[in-house]
Amino acid sequence: MSILVVGSIGLDTVKTPVEEHTDLVGGSASYAALSASFFTPVNLVGIVGSDFPESEFQFWKSRDIDTSGVQRVSGKTFRWSGEYAWDLNTRETRSIALNVFEHFRPALPPKYRESPFVLLANIAPKLQSHVLDQMERPRFVVADTMDLWIETTRADLEALLRRVDLLILNDSEAREITKETSLIRAGRKIRGFGPRYVAIKKGEHGALLFGQKEFFSCGAYPLEDIHDPTGAGDTFAGGLAGYVAAHAGEKVSFELLRKAMIYGSVLASFCVEAFSLDRLRKLTEKEIADRYQMFKLMSQFEALT
Ligand code: AMP
Repeated sequence: MSILVVGSIGLDTVKTPVEEHTDLVGGSASYAALSASFFTPVNLVGIVGSDFPESEFQFWKSRDIDTSGVQRVSGKTFRWSGEYAWDLNTRETRSIALNVFEHFRPALPPKYRESPFVLLANIAPKLQSHVLDQMERPRFVVADTMDLWIETTRADLEALLRRVDLLILNDSEAREITKETSLIRAGRKIRGFGPRYVAIKKGEHGALLFGQKEFFSCGAYPLEDIHDPTGAGDTFAGGLAGYVAAHAGEKVSFELLRKAMIYGSVLASFCVEAFSLDRLRKLTEKEIADRYQMFKLMSQFEALT
């Protein structure tokens, strides 16, 4: 079943201790939509300026990503620039220019309104809510967020959380939003804000999933070569939500979400192997299946006898 993905579409400049690249296609929705497209057709919502490459629209078409919800307006595309420290975990935002994003009001084409699954990739919570306002009762809503919104638009974020089925956030954000040091407490407490499920990402240390009584913990795929961590979180969210949309059947069970967490982790592990979307662009279904299998073998152990 199709999934609606809304978020930022931008041009990034990324500096790691060994390389720097400018004007890379990025943005939370670009990563999330491409990742989800490995599992299910995507309806993309976003905005770009006149400087955004037309070739990306052709690429989206080739991946069954519908772009009738992407507004192209005159002006400059959203731009973000970040710099990583040697550990590739610590990142500093060097600059951000909202450009055409500043006056963005997502408007859903009528055919998008019935999308049963929704991924609200990282953008201002008010815009995420505005998308939900236009939808006919989606079956399952996944949302991602970031520290900026916890710090600057807390009330909007809390209003959104009451309408979300699964919230994805990273460990420092989970601590920040709950003022808890323990991630286990933080996960439980975030459920109290509204989402039935909460996924907490721990970067290279994996991710946690909380349900009402259920709990799941998975590692991250061990990689030797990480070139650019940008977009790993969005790719995780896209893979997870895309897998759920493709396999939900009658209901979204915790079992399904456990598998979806692994697919999200697998997709994210490919994302960081190259700058921008470069690795995901040439990724194959076989590579995904093989890495999922490796993940399983690495995490499996026998019951006590
Ligand atoms: P991640 O590495 O998963 O945190 O996501 C990085 C992507 O988020 C980059 O491609 C940026 O273009 C995008 N991004 C950075 N800041 C924002 C923001 N305030 N709103 C929306 N997208 C952003």
